[in-house]
Amino acid sequence: MVWRLAVLALAMTVGLSACAEHDGRLGSDAAHVGSDGKVVSATSEASSQQGESDADAHVSNAQSEGEQATTSDRTSSAAESHEADPSSDTNTEDAADASAAGMFSLDDVPAYHGSLSVDVNGSQPFFTDEDRTRGPFETYSPFDDLGRTGAAFALINRDTMPTEERNDNLSYNPTGWQVATYDWVDQRFLYNRCHLIAWSLAGEGDNPQNLITGTRTLNMEGMRRFEEQVSSYVYRTSNSVLFRVTPLYRGSDLVAEGVLMEAESVEDNGTGLRFCVFCYNVEPGVEIDYATGANRADGSRQAQPYEPSEEELQADFVINKSSKVYHYPDCDSVIDMRAHNKIFFQGTLEELEELYPFSDGWHLCKKCRERHAH
Ligand SMILES: [Zn+2]
Repeated sequence: MVWRLAVLALAMTVGLSACAEHDGRLGSDAAHVGSDGKVVSATSEASSQQGESDADAHVSNAQSEGEQATTSDRTSSAAESHEADPSSDTNTEDAADASAAGMFSLDDVPAYHGSLSVDVNGSQPFFTDEDRTRGPFETYSPFDDLGRTGAAFALINRDTMPTEERNDNLSYNPTGWQVATYDWVDQRFLYNRCHLIAWSLAGEGDNPQNLITGTRTLNMEGMRRFEEQVSSYVYRTSNSVLFRVTPLYRGSDLVAEGVLMEAESVEDNGTGLRFCVFCYNVEPGVEIDYATGANRADGSRQAQPYEPSEEELQADFVINKSSKVYHYPDCDSVIDMRAHNKIFFQGTLEELEELYPFSDGWHLCKKCRERHAH
């Protein structure tokens, strides 16, 4: 109990992280409490169509042209049961939003061979000219008939980036959600509530339609590299980026095998930024049953006792290059940090801040700052 609370506290220090950090929060029973109940559900037509496309594991769990999305206020228990609600008030929306339907499926993705992402479709996103000329929008798909999250699609620019404090109090359990820990997983929890569109890009925190059950490695490494490309391009140019993230499920699996991430800069017609990649929802050392989210160690990894190296013993700061947070060596966070994310730094805080500036997202851990302030 105590160490889990510690993990929670540590998670709060990682302010700039792209996705949800502290998903291993205890109390799955309480996890749905406090939901605002705002859920968009598929119509029955959409559901039945979805049933067909499930078999092919097509990209879009969302909608195709002509289908309707309905918005309704629902109780958290309805959301919990992952049932589509066919009897709600209907708001017709532009339903073509989040679809690369029929253009891409899991069959187009090579089997995972150790690389966390792979370029697909010659790095060309599946956007249409309509998408490119659409102007500002931010859309999230209705859940399909299995309650699964679909594509999230938005025009990202400085206006969509959050200015308020990050709310890390995520409560929604996406399909396949389980609490499982492994000693070698960063911060120990296998699954994160993983944002499709990173919080840092659109500020959508606890929006159930923006969350999937994703591995720690997908959340913190696989997707992050590409999220950072988007945010740094937007910061650098003040231009806009079409950005779509689509979870791909095989058959009726509850956990996505990965996400299709598509991005294209708008004002310069993609010359500044363009990618189309698939990121695998995998965790080294863990075997995942995507049908249910069940998991077990695959035997390739073992927990190892922590022994600091000479370099670490001499360091004045330890930097997490994944989260861009730096710590004094005596911080608890250092113990939980993955070895390959560590940079050891000798020097003063001022020197550190000059080399890893706040303007690029680097910053001192909150706890460390408070501890060393006195
Ligand atoms: Zn710290």
